[in-house]
Amino acid sequence: NAQFAVRRAKKSGRTEIYHTRALDLAREQFAIETELRRAIENGCMTLNFQPICDLASGRITSFEALARWTTEEGVAISPNAFIPVAEESGLIVPLGRWAIDEAARTLAEWDARAGGDCGVKIAVNLSAIQLQRDHIGTLVKAAIDRYGVAGSRFTLELTESAIVTDPDRIARTMTALKDLGTTLAMDDFGTGYSNLAYLQKLPIDVLKIDRSFVTGMLADRDKIAIIRAILSLASALGMQTTAEGIETVELAQTLAALGCTYGQGYYYARPLVGEDAFALIGTRNA
Ligand code: C2E
Ligand code: MG
Ligand code: MG
Ligand code: MG
Repeated sequence: NAQFAVRRAKKSGRTEIYHTRALDLAREQFAIETELRRAIENGCMTLNFQPICDLASGRITSFEALARWTTEEGVAISPNAFIPVAEESGLIVPLGRWAIDEAARTLAEWDARAGGDCGVKIAVNLSAIQLQRDHIGTLVKAAIDRYGVAGSRFTLELTESAIVTDPDRIARTMTALKDLGTTLAMDDFGTGYSNLAYLQKLPIDVLKIDRSFVTGMLADRDKIAIIRAILSLASALGMQTTAEGIETVELAQTLAALGCTYGQGYYYARPLVGEDAFALIGTRNA
């Protein structure tokens, strides 16, 4: 096992016990980490924005901010590759701070161009490690003050893993975020392995139904059954729902008929650069 070898080598301080694959892995990890640090410092990270739409009307209610890293060679690296590196190296703290600030800056810019509230919220992803290591409530408050955008214009997306790691700390953070007027969404709902009791204790507003249940649901009664159960759970608890991964009009219609509130996916739009996202508000919400 490559990772085990890395750890053993670090402890003993002896390089000779490095397995070749482990050494390659460690080198690669370090190279990515160094470049990622530089990218964050040099402003090479950007946010893309994917609309979240009201399923009934198709209107855009918010945009999810998705981090993008384009290297100096012009290669676009997926967050699925660099977020884990950022978490392991601690770079998730500066990266996460940047994402919150950049999301707020973007909202202020869109509002200025719209000559008032541009009518959408922005949703920012928070990783479990970031929630453990940083004071998210303080950061969001600072961004609100810095750009003069109301707290109600932000959604924060958390995952179940954040709740499992430190339930008391997460409860305090979520309360602080609610006090700022933000919306809290549980991302990738249904894929975590946590005890559902947290749903009645924490101030969650939205359940985001994971894409894995949506993809292929039209031909899979089990997936439909799970989605129905999540919708009924959300409704009983007074929460709203967003379905991820909507790629076709049939999925949008079926989820709307089942009573899901919002939808997100390639059918509506792929993640867009800020300029295109702003333009889309004008065309879709006219
Ligand atoms: P997520 O929060 O669940 O974001 C949704 C992901 O699904 C995005 O991938 C989006 O591009 C993709 N997606 C949206 N609609 C469709 C669709 O119809 N079909 C398919 N196949 N995919 C769709 P992306 O941008 O690669 O981001 C991956 C993950 O990286 C995100 O999953 C999120 O967990 C994480 N991430 C992205 N940006 C940030 C960030 O700024 N901070 C943190 N902590 N995590 C981030
Ligand atoms: Mg998300
Ligand atoms: Mg998600
Ligand atoms: Mg997902």
